[in-house]
Amino acid sequence: MGKLPNYLLEHCRQNCSLAAMDWSEYYQELEIGLQELNLSTIFKERFRPYLFHHIPKIALAGCPNGCSQPQIKDIGVTGFITPQLSENSCSGCQTCIAACSEKAITWHDEGIVIDPLLCVSCGMCIRSCPTEKIIPKESGWLLSLGGRLGRHPKFAKIMGKVRTGKKLKTGS
Ligand code: SF4
Ligand code: SF4
Ligand code: SF4
Repeated sequence: MGKLPNYLLEHCRQNCSLAAMDWSEYYQELEIGLQELNLSTIFKERFRPYLFHHIPKIALAGCPNGCSQPQIKDIGVTGFITPQLSENSCSGCQTCIAACSEKAITWHDEGIVIDPLLCVSCGMCIRSCPTEKIIPKESGWLLSLGGRLGRHPKFAKIMGKVRTGKKLKTGS
């Protein structure tokens, strides 16, 4: 077998209209960081013999839909944007309710309510609101570790977040 790569880095679709964060800004920086980390040396210590399925897998996703499958990678980096209500008026159009596939937004006498336990921080409600009643609260990247397929599959655990404060990406 030829020389194995030091890592496998996947990303989701560029310029996706659903993206909460633009991963392309960080892709090269991540590659530099991964090369400096020299992950394969660590993995070669752990897995003997070191085989193709031991190669560290990393995924970069622009939103919690996670098309690059950060949940099953050794390292996952996922863009997020969490909503909050502003002082602006709500028109009552309920577009945000239709936009939220998690059913995290409900309509009450006093207006809309966002359930933080159901919200996955995809930012779709922010994007859909015509009056900016729903605005970003925080945004950045969720870091997850330890996901794997194979003989002992398991989902990655979210270990932390990096807040960047950047605004919602406007997709094409
Ligand atoms: S993870 Fe999100 S941003 Fe990336 S391709 Fe899928 S839907 Fe689009
Ligand atoms: S928060 Fe925005 S999208 Fe939702 S009902 Fe009010 S105006 Fe419409
Ligand atoms: S950020 Fe996404 S999941 Fe959360 S309330 Fe808005 S549309 Fe629903």
